[in-house]
Amino acid sequence: MSVSLVYFPVQVPQDFDFDQAPDFQRSSGHGLCVKHIIFSNDYDDNRPGGKHEAIDIFGAVGLWVRSTTDGTVVTTWRYQNKVLPGAGYSHRGGNFVRIIDTNGNVHYYAHMRDPAFVCSGDMVFAGSLLGFLGKSGQCGCPHLHYQVRGPSPWNPGRGGRGINPYNELRRLYIAD
Ligand SMILES: [Zn+2]
Repeated sequence: MSVSLVYFPVQVPQDFDFDQAPDFQRSSGHGLCVKHIIFSNDYDDNRPGGKHEAIDIFGAVGLWVRSTTDGTVVTTWRYQNKVLPGAGYSHRGGNFVRIIDTNGNVHYYAHMRDPAFVCSGDMVFAGSLLGFLGKSGQCGCPHLHYQVRGPSPWNPGRGGRGINPYNELRRLYIAD
């Protein structure tokens, strides 16, 4: 399964001052996040919580997080008998948003600095501003945890099988 993306999800705002981003300095000092944006194909990596069915895009707190596709913020999704909103806060993901695209794929953006700028049911476009990159939830070095799941008829808000978006991200990324 594959997905096609239109917009790279992390962007550097004009005049962004990396020297004034304290978390970026701190993580740079530890030898991590030495570039403005850095990511690799860490999909399916083994992590303490299980397989990592996502790509982590590392960068400074305050970079823009933008939607990769047109879509709608998920109204509700179900997880372990709970019904949850499409934008909110969770212990693990921190400030997150889930967007369902026109093909039924679900895009999940996690660890944002602030609550998402969009609400359940909002329409978004490729490039719509969702929030700022951060490290909320279970997160070390600031990054966007970006996940894509294919369509699911029984739990459309969460999506079905994971899809690795790395090749699409690679295609859209312009090195800074
Ligand atoms: Zn991750």
